[in-house]
Amino acid sequence: MQTKSLLGSTKRRKITIENDYLKKIQQRFAFATILIPVIGSVVAIGLLSRSPISAVEIGLLVSMYSLTMVGLIVGFHRYFSHNAFRTHITIRIALAVLGCMAAQGPVIQWVSNHRRHHQLSDQPGDTHSPHIYKGQKFAQIRGFWYAHIGWMLKGEIINSALFAKDLLQDRTITKINQLYFTWVIIGLAIPTVLGGIITASWIGAGQGFLWGGLMRIFLAHHAIWCVNSINHLYGSRPFSTGDRSTNNIWFAIPTFGGSWHHNHHAFPHSAKCGLQWWQIDLGYWVIRVLEMLGLAWDVKTPTPEMIKAKKAT
Ligand SMILES: [Zn+2]
Ligand SMILES: [Zn+2]
Repeated sequence: MQTKSLLGSTKRRKITIENDYLKKIQQRFAFATILIPVIGSVVAIGLLSRSPISAVEIGLLVSMYSLTMVGLIVGFHRYFSHNAFRTHITIRIALAVLGCMAAQGPVIQWVSNHRRHHQLSDQPGDTHSPHIYKGQKFAQIRGFWYAHIGWMLKGEIINSALFAKDLLQDRTITKINQLYFTWVIIGLAIPTVLGGIITASWIGAGQGFLWGGLMRIFLAHHAIWCVNSINHLYGSRPFSTGDRSTNNIWFAIPTFGGSWHHNHHAFPHSAKCGLQWWQIDLGYWVIRVLEMLGLAWDVKTPTPEMIKAKKAT
C-alpha cells in the first residue's frame, strides 16, 4: 500500500486514504459529474433551433449561476476554506447548501482538497498543479488537462481529518455534507419548477432544467476549474508567493473574483482578492453587503503595508 505524507508535518499522516473500492466509486461519480452537464449543455444548444430560449431561461441561468457561485467563492472558498470572515449560522448554512448545489463535491471534500492545494502549492502532493509534468513531453498541455479535469478522475480519497478537522467537528456542516446529492437535486429542481410555473408549460420546465440546471453547472464547473488550470499557468505574478499562481482579468467576472488567484495565494485569508480598484471582485462585494447588513464581521483584508511588503522584487 502506497502512502503519501504531508510535507512539513511532524507526524507522518496520510494526505489520501487508500481504498480501491471507494476510489472506484469516486472515479465514477467524478466522471458522471463532469460528463452529465456537458451532455445537458449540448442538448440545450441543439434544441435552440426548435424551441428558442427567452428571458426566462437566461434569468434562470444567471440567477442560479450567481447563487451557486456565491456558495463556492464566498462560501466554500473564502469562508470555509480560509476563514476570511465570520458570519451568522443561517448564512453559514446557506453558503454550505448553495456551494453543494454547484455539484463540485460536498463542502468538506472541497475544502480539504483546496487546503491541500494551498499547503503544497505547485509542490509534489498538490491537489491539482498543472506543473506536475515539468520536463516531460507536452508538459504544458498535459498539465492543463490534469489541473482542469484529470486530477478528479484519479479518484483520490482526501483525508479530511487532516485538512478539515474544524468542519468534521461541526454537526450541522457534516449533516449538510452527507446530504450533498439532495442539494444537487434541489439545485436542479428549482430552475425546472420555476421554468414550468413561469411559462405554464412542460417545455418551460425542461428548458429550465437544461439552462438553469445543467448548463449552469457546466459553466460554473469550468469557470472554477480555469482557476485551477489557467490561474497556475498564464497571467501576472506581482507578489512573492513561492508558487506558480497568476492573476487573470479575463474570467474575473464569471469567477466572482476567483481569478485574482495570485493575489489570493499572496493573502490566502483575505476576504478581498481584487486588490486594485480595477480588479473586479464580485465575491468581495457580496461579503461587503453582508457586512453592511450586520451578517458578516471580522472581515479580513491586507493593509497597504502588508501588500507593499509582499511585492515581488
Ligand atoms: Zn492556486
Ligand atoms: Zn484558496
